Parts: sequence; structure tokens; C-alpha cells
Amino acid sequence: MSLLSISTLVIVLLAFVAFFLSFARFVRLLRTAQPRDRFGNFVKRSIVFIEQVLLHRRLLRQPLPGLLHFIIFWGFVILTVGTTEWIYAGLTHGARYTFFGNAYGYFAFSQDLLNGLVFLAVAVAVFRRLIVRPKRMADNSTKSKADAYFILALIAGLTITNLIAHSIMIHNGEDSFTSFQPIARELSTFWPSGTLVSQNLFYVFWWAHLLIVLGFLNYLPYSKHFHVIVAAPNVWFSKTEPRGKLTKLNLDDESITRFGAQKAEELSWKNILDSYACTECGRCNEFCPTASTDKALRPKSLMIGLRAGMMERTPVLLKLGTHHPDEAALAKLTEPERKIYANDLVPDTFSEQVIWDCTTCGACVESCPVLIDHVDSIVEMRRALVLNKGSNPDEATNAFRNWESASNPWGFAESSRQEYLVEKGIPHYEADGDFEFLYYIGCAGSFDDRNKKVVESVIKVLQAAKIKFGILGKEERCNGETARRLGNEYLGQQMIMANKEVLERYKVRKILTSCPHCFNTLKNEYPEFGGNYEVLHHTEYIQQLLASGRVKVDAGQLKNVTYHDSCYIGRYNGIYEAPRQILKQVAKQDPIEMPRSREKGFCCGAGGGRMWLEEKTGSRINQNRAEEIIQTKADTVCVACPFCMTMISDGLKSKQREDIRVRDISEIVAEALS
Ligand code: SF4
Ligand code: SF4
Repeated sequence: MSLLSISTLVIVLLAFVAFFLSFARFVRLLRTAQPRDRFGNFVKRSIVFIEQVLLHRRLLRQPLPGLLHFIIFWGFVILTVGTTEWIYAGLTHGARYTFFGNAYGYFAFSQDLLNGLVFLAVAVAVFRRLIVRPKRMADNSTKSKADAYFILALIAGLTITNLIAHSIMIHNGEDSFTSFQPIARELSTFWPSGTLVSQNLFYVFWWAHLLIVLGFLNYLPYSKHFHVIVAAPNVWFSKTEPRGKLTKLNLDDESITRFGAQKAEELSWKNILDSYACTECGRCNEFCPTASTDKALRPKSLMIGLRAGMMERTPVLLKLGTHHPDEAALAKLTEPERKIYANDLVPDTFSEQVIWDCTTCGACVESCPVLIDHVDSIVEMRRALVLNKGSNPDEATNAFRNWESASNPWGFAESSRQEYLVEKGIPHYEADGDFEFLYYIGCAGSFDDRNKKVVESVIKVLQAAKIKFGILGKEERCNGETARRLGNEYLGQQMIMANKEVLERYKVRKILTSCPHCFNTLKNEYPEFGGNYEVLHHTEYIQQLLASGRVKVDAGQLKNVTYHDSCYIGRYNGIYEAPRQILKQVAKQDPIEMPRSREKGFCCGAGGGRMWLEEKTGSRINQNRAEEIIQTKADTVCVACPFCMTMISDGLKSKQREDIRVRDISEIVAEALS
């Protein structure tokens, strides 16, 4: 073996061993966190992986940065094959992949072209960062920005060294595939004609290329850009269950002394992986209602903070090896290690305000190119606050008390639930009755005067279509959705079981709701508690009635209408078309779209239990949305959620624009019935 072969072998082996040791250390760190089963659903995972990693579907929603990333990503992948050829050449003292015969020419062409394209993409990316300065990355720390430039410089270095080394070979007549390498050939003309370029110079670039690749590989696990490696696995292990489904806490296991995530490692390994996968691109902040209204919570900072917290805890956790160490293991920690271990996520990494700001709207999750689930982590931290420390905003305590005593957040007497519907003669659902479904009214429709009108409109439409349905009256229970999202898993599960018991008693199989929160939890969360029903939201159902002709409307009366997407039927359940189709049919024209609509819809500010909490910091989310509604110049804004109804009405009122009507979709249809 030549000296070149031996040195190549040693350096490559050392670099790969070092990388695998770093990576194994990271895997050991993840294994100290809470378990989470993300290993099934191979087909679904493969589809998501192809869409989001290989095809960059989300990234390409923003065409220029998406395209740049696409070129750099694919260029990097394909150029890696070229790097393996470089290593092969080192090991064999100059052999190339020419055993591919004439096909080698196409390989050489791909390498040449991609070296040029990737270099260009890096140059444009640097220009964007330096000159255009995208707002969403403006708040990145100086260290993070410097790290990003360093990584871009390394990538550019890879392409340049590769091209120059090839240009030397072409100049010296050592490459018989010259015609397939237009860029390297062009570069070769810069070498002095008539004299051979020194082999030593060739090896300078050859080694530089190899050392950059191997250095890059070993730098990443310790840099903020570890996401280059873990982003793809993060996408692979993303949630394949319904997005609106919270994980169920096991409250019966008496060995568990702390619930939720009080310490960073008490999050699941996937939550931890999320934080390392964050690219700090800032897309989540762009769409987050709390970041947009100057509140403490910024989803990007949440991920950065979580990662920093984990990095600090890494040596301690590797020593403990678990997220639930016993006293004997803790006793082995040194005093400084014990101090680090004692840190709780709240308040040592995040303030309580950060954790309670979230509306669980899912805009961050929807916008994140690496499929990070911020809501999952936030709910786990809320659980720890409520269940371990009894610490939550005072307003939440009131709501919890009311749910406990009266199964509704206002504390109205249970006996008065849906009294107004019973008085109107709406039949009680019976197991053996002649009903198409149960109309699950929910707390807002049962007690809130404005939302009672929405329920009446839904009923008017159902009656016009001669649909037979029943209600549960005072037997209906709150479904537990909001208590769970406020972190009170214990109360939430109690309410779920109580409500499920009533649904079982009446052998309910099909449910209609006019509340997206009831809809999401009954449809997506109850199955885990043994409640399996067909659940419909009224927008879907009314659209079916219109489409089938069971309900007819006098169209054309409605003009200048816009639609506000509810997060829990939109982003969480993909119902975007049904409400728009209804409006189109009634108005005979498409609704006016707000800039932030459909997947990008802007929360009203009430989700995640925020409906019951004061909004004490920043500007008001519903006013922010009201301004957007006003800009559409619509006369009517349609909603499909009781919380949105309240928040949007209040937002417009605060802007003295009560002239803009706020109507539920069902009211629009009820008003237009022919
Ligand atoms: S769920 Fe909504 S409010 Fe919460 S962090 Fe994400 S975007 Fe912000
Ligand atoms: S969480 Fe996702 S969207 Fe937000 S900065 Fe990180 S990678 Fe970007």
C-alpha cells in the first residue's frame, strides 16, 4: 500500500469512528428521555419522507429559499457520491469509477454541473442573508448567524476544491472525460498553458476537499447545525396519528411520581429530537399568533431554548442514563451536576408566561419544514405545571373548578344545560330511537346566548332537510378537550370517561357537532379512551345536504363575505373546502380570501384554553385578526366555531367595526333557506 492509500484509510476511518461515537452519544442522550412509539406506519412515514425530505414540499411553499435549499440538498447528496470516488481514488492511488464505462461521463457531468449549481446557490443564500436579510431570521443570535455562514463557506469550499482539482487533471491531460465537465474544463484554461500543474498542487485541493467533508461531518454534532443530519430522521419519526390528538398520560401507574415534562428529559425523545432538528429558519414565528402580537412565546425560541437546555444537561443525563433516576443514581452526581439536574424547564429555561401563551393553533407545526411538533412539548410542560406544581393562571383554576362541579367552564347549573332546546321540543337521543345521529351541542352551544343562535340555525337547516336527530340535554357532559389542553390531564380524562359513559349508555355511533374542539376530540382522541364514533362537523354535513339537494337555498343574497378558518377543523382536520363551498353556493361567488387563510389561517386567540385566560401581554390576537378582516372590505365574516364567534366579534367591536356581521356558516344557510 502506498503512503497515500494508508493515510487516506487512516484519516477516513478515524473521521467515521469519531462521527459514529458522537452520534451514538446523541442516541444515548435521546434514550434517556421519555419513550414514544414512532416506529410503526412504515408506508405513511415513507410517503411523508418522500414529500417533505426528498421533494421539499413545505420548503417550496416559499419558492426562492425553497429552490435554493433544494439545489443545495440534492447537490450535496449527489456530490457525496463524488466524494466517495475521491476516497476510492486515495485508497487505490488514483483509480476512478471508470468501471461504469461510458456511463461514467454522465456521472462526471452531474458532478461538474452540481458543483457549479451548489456554489451558485450558496452564493445566493449568502446574498439573501447579508443583503436581503429575511425578517424571520433577523432575531437569530450572532453565534447562530456565524455558524450558518461557516457551514455555507464549508459547502462552497467543497465545490471549489472539487472543481479546481478536476481542472488540474483536465489541464494535465489526466482526464479522458473532459467533454463532460464544462465548468472544470473552463477553469482549466486558467492554468498556464504549455506547462503541467504540479501534482502537489492537485493533492492540496484533493486533501482540502476530503478534509472539509470529514471535518464537516465531525463538526456538525457539536454545532447548532446538527439539523443537517437529524432533520431527515425527524421528519421520518413525525406524528402519523391525527395531528389534533394529544398523547394520553398514564395516570394509573403508581410508580410515576411526576407527570408531563418538568425536566427536559421528561419530554419524549421525539420532542428532544425536534429541538435538535430546528434549523432556526423562523417560519414558525412568522405564522404564530403570539409571536405576531409580541408575546413571550416564540416557537423558534422554544426549540432553541430546549436544545440549549438539553446540551447543558447532556453530561449529567449520560451519567444517569434515564429520565427517572433513583436516589442511589442521584447520589453519585457531583455538586455542580446536581445543580444542573435540579433545573426545571419552567422557570429555569422558560417562563410560565411562555408556556401559557400558546393557543395550540398548530400554525408553527404546519409551517415547520422539518415537521417539529411544538404543541406536543408545550402541553407536556403545562401538564407538569398543573399536575406536579399546581401552578396555572388563576382564571384556569376557576374554569377547572367549574368543570369539576358543573361540567362546563362557566359553572352554569348542569340541570340548565340545553334547557332552551328541550323547551323547543328537540327530542332526547335514545338508543333505540329513530335518529340519524346525536347532535352533540357542547358547552358554548348549551349556555352561551350568541352560540345558542348558531345551534338554532343548525337545527333549522336539519329540520328543513327532515333529518331526525336527538340531543342529550342535561345529560350531555363537557368532552374534556380544553381541560386537557390547559394541562389538567387528570380532569380532562375524568370528563372524557364521564361523557363517554353517557354516549355508551345511549349507544351513540354517529355524532354531529358545531364546535371544532368537540369535533376534534370526539373524532381523534376518544378512540384511545375506547369511544369510537363517526363524527361530523356541521360545515361538512351541511355541505353534503346542499350537494345532495336535501337542503335548498335562495342563492345570491350574500355579497362580500370572507371566511375565517378555525384551527381545529382547518389545520387539525383538513376541513377547508366545505365551508367555502357552502359560501360559494349561497353567495354565488367565492368568498374573499384573507392573506392568512387555509393552512396559513390565523388563530382567533381562543384555542388551547386561551378562551378562559386573560391576554395580558402584547397586542390582542383577535384585534390583529380583526384588522385583517377589515382590510378585505367584506360586509360579513363567516366562522365555524363558537370560540371564533366570540373572539372575532370582540375584535371587530374593539375596532368599532360592528357593522361587519359575524355569522356562523349555519346561520348563512339558515337565512337563505328557500
Ligand atoms: S401552536 Fe400556535 S400559538 Fe402555539 S406556538 Fe404554535 S403557532 Fe404559536
Ligand atoms: S421550529 Fe421549524 S419552522 Fe421554527 S425555526 Fe425551527 S425549523 Fe424553522
